[in-house]
Amino acid sequence: MNLHKLILTNNACYKAGRTIVPKGIMVHSTGANNPWLKRYVGPDDGLLGKNPYNNHWNQDKPDGRQVCVHAFIGKLADGTIATYQTLPWNMRGWHCGGSGNDSYIGFEICEDGLNDASYFSAVYREAAELCAYLCKEYGLTEKDVICHSEGYKLGIASNHSDVMHWFVRFGKSMDAFRADVRKLLDAAGNPKTYIVQKGDSLWGIAQKQLGSGARYPEIMTLNNLSSTAIYPGQVLKIPK
Ligand SMILES: [Zn+2]
Repeated sequence: MNLHKLILTNNACYKAGRTIVPKGIMVHSTGANNPWLKRYVGPDDGLLGKNPYNNHWNQDKPDGRQVCVHAFIGKLADGTIATYQTLPWNMRGWHCGGSGNDSYIGFEICEDGLNDASYFSAVYREAAELCAYLCKEYGLTEKDVICHSEGYKLGIASNHSDVMHWFVRFGKSMDAFRADVRKLLDAAGNPKTYIVQKGDSLWGIAQKQLGSGARYPEIMTLNNLSSTAIYPGQVLKIPK
């Protein structure tokens, strides 16, 4: 992953400053033929290139809309594929037009004309690597990764078709994408940490993260816990 950071501090979403405990990742694509990151991320940092229209999202209401995401994947000025983090991962984004904003990290893949297989495979791989990175950071698994259209079916996002209108053109489904995220997680070892959510128990965490609630003493041992009391926001190491 070619990860850079340019936080959109002028966007009203950033200024609203609400935080979330990330419980999932929502994959979007922009719905416009413009693969250049400079369309959305600015001002130019020397890599993005200049946006002659100055209509990037580092302004109060880009295109007159209340909208902001946690990252964009697309092309730098020299054509290299990169990921730009544009909000702190634990800040509430305005990416899906539904309650998913309260708990999902959302990122956009910049669409091109949707016919270029080499561009698709490059941004697809970058997106899978970003998801694997975020899963490890926030103790999530590939099962917590959905796309916008799946969010709509779950009732937590507006009625958009991304990313399926694009992925299927190249024989990819979200299940295939999740399997690829899983492969990256397996290659790097299990998710190393988990952030305790409200209502969690050690048994429940062991059930979800280790496949068996009965393995909760392993989590206690690894984290030097003397009791089973845990609290929301606590970061636990998860055994392999
Ligand atoms: Zn979307």
